[in-house]
Amino acid sequence: STQIQLVTRPVGWPTARDFRTVSVDLPELAPGEVRVTNEFVSVDPYMRGRMNDVKSYAPPYVLGEAMTGGAVGRVVASASDTIKVGDVVVHQFGWRDRVQEGAAGFRVVPELSGVPLSAYLGVLGMTALTAYVGLLDVAAFKAGDTVFVSGAAGAVGSMVGQIARLKGAKRVIGSAGSPDKVALLTQKYGFDAAFNYRDGDIAGQLAAVAPDGIDVYFDNVGGEHLEAALATLNNGGRAALCGAISTYNNTEATPGPRNMVNIVGRGLTLKGFIVGNYVHHFPEFSAEMAGWLASGEIVFDETVVDGIDHAVEAFLGLLRGENTGKMVVRTVA
Ligand code: NDP
Repeated sequence: STQIQLVTRPVGWPTARDFRTVSVDLPELAPGEVRVTNEFVSVDPYMRGRMNDVKSYAPPYVLGEAMTGGAVGRVVASASDTIKVGDVVVHQFGWRDRVQEGAAGFRVVPELSGVPLSAYLGVLGMTALTAYVGLLDVAAFKAGDTVFVSGAAGAVGSMVGQIARLKGAKRVIGSAGSPDKVALLTQKYGFDAAFNYRDGDIAGQLAAVAPDGIDVYFDNVGGEHLEAALATLNNGGRAALCGAISTYNNTEATPGPRNMVNIVGRGLTLKGFIVGNYVHHFPEFSAEMAGWLASGEIVFDETVVDGIDHAVEAFLGLLRGENTGKMVVRTVA
């Protein structure tokens, strides 16, 4: 098995030297174990936090051990009564091309025609569930709301915008970091308006496309985007604080929004969340998403990087915005 290990804890932007690729032999199967060839492994922004040695909702990666993360693969050998050879499984033994563990660590999923297995890491998995629960539960979205989502061309953001549209948003606005991504938002994902935050003056650009303000802000980015949203949210507005990727490689504390007082005067609600605490919504999410995919009402993009040896590049590319939709690594076994 080829696996990626963290060897030093990055300060600021990670570099390839913080990681190493290691080959390990898998032992004979023990009773109850299965051996899986991963087809896709996930790289996700939260993994940057796990590279730091700080207490958080997910424990830090252990130096000199294979990193973990979402992955989907196929069972190639089994000594388990519950999982058989050929089954497709979703699990948390990512950052490697092969894994062998007890069957309890794997969830068998159906192989759907016309949907790549990588979808279980994105549109049928964690990132789309994050969009679904963050918008509908955490931000208490209701039909008629105007919604703004940052990181809108990414895995979570592209789903937030489309779900908001399908659930009856009055207006859906997104921001992203390139002209191509901005075009994608309005032309493919059905956003009503979009802007490129790299053009600057985020508050001004948001105000220009939200003449009646916004009712919901889905924050993937933090920093200046959050300040712009606080300036634009209407009375009683709600924000789901999902992530703050603009700050993950900062070495100094990020300045807070300068307009926090708007929370008081406008009676705003800002609520952070971790998708792991909302998995009870997974059945309704899966059912609804399966329908939207089948009908073509939701479309999705993936950026696929080939080779487990390129997983670190894929991860760094994700932080730099090289992905459109979900970033995944295809494991060429
Ligand atoms: P994405 O697919 O959105 O990829 C990350 C994107 O972030 C990049 O493509 C890039 O797009 C954007 N980005 C990078 N740097 C900046 C910056 N300085 N300012 C603005 N945008 C930036 O990743 P995910 O969809 O997986 O995750 C999106 C967010 O959701 C992250 O903050 C993540 O941590 C969070 N998250 C939270 C979860 C939870 O349970 N709370 C679960 C899953 C994700 P661009 O080209 O537009 O800059």
